[in-house]
Amino acid sequence: MGFWGNRLMIPKSHPRYESLKKRERLIKYFRKGIVAEAGLIAHGRGEAFDYLIGEKTQPFAYEAEKAAVAMMKLSKSPVISVNGNVTALCAGEIVELSRILNSKVEVNLFYRTKKRVNLIVREFRRYGIDVLGKEPDARIPGLEHNRALVFSGGIYSADCVLVPLEDGDRTKALKGMGKKVIAIDLNPLSRTSQEADITIVDELTRAVKVMIDLAKKIDENQAREILKNYDNRKIISQSLIFIQERLRELSLLL
Ligand code: ATP
Ligand code: MG
Repeated sequence: MGFWGNRLMIPKSHPRYESLKKRERLIKYFRKGIVAEAGLIAHGRGEAFDYLIGEKTQPFAYEAEKAAVAMMKLSKSPVISVNGNVTALCAGEIVELSRILNSKVEVNLFYRTKKRVNLIVREFRRYGIDVLGKEPDARIPGLEHNRALVFSGGIYSADCVLVPLEDGDRTKALKGMGKKVIAIDLNPLSRTSQEADITIVDELTRAVKVMIDLAKKIDENQAREILKNYDNRKIISQSLIFIQERLRELSLLL
């Protein structure tokens, strides 16, 4: 490993190459003003849980990803909510997914500033789409200050919202408005994971890639079948049992 300017040069052979690249991207986007300080901390929290699930899309995550695509396909007005971390890690893939699923994309920030919103809107423009971001005209009931701001033609009126990396309070408030909520969150114990209708316990960039593939394959009839058999409590429980068994096996090898 060496340095190039103030950038770390990571050789592809490094066992944690993918993870280190993601950290670099987050730092780069933090310096641009897109990722918030707390976003960096949240990423570290996610990485810790990714170790526990073996840094792979496990079967419980794949089932949830299938159900998520099915639910979005059958929704009338789905919205993908994006924040700084999501923009830094996979703006291009979010654009692709939104196109296949006919979904709007809305900027939804915990630490909302005009500057950060404008930077995110500009970043998505580079990928060819206009996201809902500037001048929100509605509020999520029950949330205070800037955290409540949304668009009447976006999250406010959506029947289904995909919230990658969302805060628990806001997930609860969206549920309170009667929306279906799909979460991508590596922590199966977070309030967001526990509140969502579909909980994808997987790393964001892996999850979105799998969802793009599935969205190209699943038709509406298949989507109805998938949702008929889906049980989110069972999925969260499977993720916790998986972590428990994996840790048990690993501890026996010591
Ligand atoms: P909650 O508010 O839901 O109880 P929290 O306060 O711990 O959870 P937030 O900062 O509100 O967390 O939301 C960020 C969540 O996103 C965390 O649970 C974290 O584990 C998860 N996370 C961070 N980075 C990723 C990633 N790349 N992929 C998937 N999940 C991630
Ligand atoms: Mg939180």
